[in-house]
Amino acid sequence: MDLRSDTVTKPTQGMRQAMANADVGDDVYGEDPTVIALEATAARLLGHEAALFCVTGSMANLLGVWLNTPVGGEVLCDERAHIVRAELGAHAAYHGVTSRTWSSPDGVARLSQIAAMVSEASPHLVPTRAIEIENTMNFASGVIQPLDEVRLISGFCHDRGLGLHLDGARLANACVATGVPLADYGRLATTVTLCLSKGLGAPMGSILASSGANIARARVERKRLGGGWRQAGVLAAAGLYALDHHYNRLSQDHRAASAMGEEIRARAPWAIAAGVATNIVVVRTGSLSAAEVVSRAGGQGLKLSAVGSHEVRAVAHLDVTYDDCVEAGRILGAILSGARP
Ligand SMILES: *Cc1c(COP(=O)(O)O)cnc(C)c1O
Repeated sequence: MDLRSDTVTKPTQGMRQAMANADVGDDVYGEDPTVIALEATAARLLGHEAALFCVTGSMANLLGVWLNTPVGGEVLCDERAHIVRAELGAHAAYHGVTSRTWSSPDGVARLSQIAAMVSEASPHLVPTRAIEIENTMNFASGVIQPLDEVRLISGFCHDRGLGLHLDGARLANACVATGVPLADYGRLATTVTLCLSKGLGAPMGSILASSGANIARARVERKRLGGGWRQAGVLAAAGLYALDHHYNRLSQDHRAASAMGEEIRARAPWAIAAGVATNIVVVRTGSLSAAEVVSRAGGQGLKLSAVGSHEVRAVAHLDVTYDDCVEAGRILGAILSGARP
């Protein structure tokens, strides 16, 4: 059972068929009909004028933050945000963006906390140019950003002339769990991403959506980064198939993750917060190191990922069943029941 991430899913037969049959052309010339169709579909779904199909979510975030933040400007985000923890410093390395972080124990971004951090341009302080939020919040156990709070943050950014970048790697999970359409979150942000390669089950690819002018700029910058691709329609076909066939089924992953969480809680209540929001279960390992827990679980055929020195993550996805997740919860719960909080 591989629960390290929802990125480990393999394309289904139906998806492979769609890829094999895709109509393709040279996307750098703007001639791939399947890429054009995916970008149009994704823009509409996310409530924006235009969209860009990117190699990875990291590249989509790199372009999105860049659109909002000139060299030497700063982006504010959660200390556990993917852009500051898991993108290897790309925003600083390639685009001269600095970051300052807030700390939110439950992973929810709140305007009251964010507003107090904004710096105006001055000879003394790095000017804040953008706010970044993540929905769902990966390293905070897949927590959902409440729509009303995002609306407040969006209104604030609008009033203060700040960009709002929404890392929506798992926005589909947030939307399936809440019944909120993707566009309701998407249109609150200046730039929004969506990963097709996570729970949606495509082999690769992410979307960046924004205004037509922003996407035109991002298309040039994507090429500069080496991300101009040619007959990418074979991959766009997988993305379109994922949106059509794997969107609603995310609720199954949420049920499986929730059941896994209950099994863990029953054995080590201190290890996990009540209620798993979506498909991610982040578990504290107490007196055991994360590496030790990963190794013991591995010995019982369960693959997990360490996401901190004393935290492991298990993710439900397309290629594991409800029963697999219950069994994983029992294995992990039993390991943790032998640990001290
Ligand atoms: C996976 C992920 C990304 C993008 O990851 P890639 O591996 O570059 O596609 C971005 N943000 C979050 C929150 C993620 O979980």
